[in-house]
Amino acid sequence: MNKIGLGYDIHPVDSSKGNLYLGGILISEKISSIGHSDGDVLIHALIDSILGAVNEGNIGIWFPENFYNRNRDSKEMLHEIFAKIGKCVKIINIDSVIILENIRLNPYIKNIKENISEILNLEVTKISCKPKSGNGFYKGYIMAQVITLLEEEG
Ligand SMILES: [Zn+2]
Repeated sequence: MNKIGLGYDIHPVDSSKGNLYLGGILISEKISSIGHSDGDVLIHALIDSILGAVNEGNIGIWFPENFYNRNRDSKEMLHEIFAKIGKCVKIINIDSVIILENIRLNPYIKNIKENISEILNLEVTKISCKPKSGNGFYKGYIMAQVITLLEEEG
């Protein structure tokens, strides 16, 4: 049976320091996404979209803001979710939007898609990622929306 899930995430941006990660790829060493983990909004929204499709709660239930998850690499969280859920599902496709002011993300999209493709063992052609500038509306924030269509087996 086919199921669809939606994920959304937004974090404030520290424009003075840190490392910014999107889809597990280092985008900038000058700014960062402020969050309990590494603040990777794309992976967080992707996790929520997968969890939503299989009706298994949300990222906060699976990865609470505790000591263990502090500054955690979001790629690990995606690996963990996929290890638990991946056996019962076949992802059909993923579509996503990232909004970030000031940094043009187009040069990074190929690497982001390849990284997600590797983690989820999914053909890169089934992963879409569309960066947008936000036209000033999201100044000081980074936002991602992800929608995942999958087939639940059994
Ligand atoms: Zn987040």
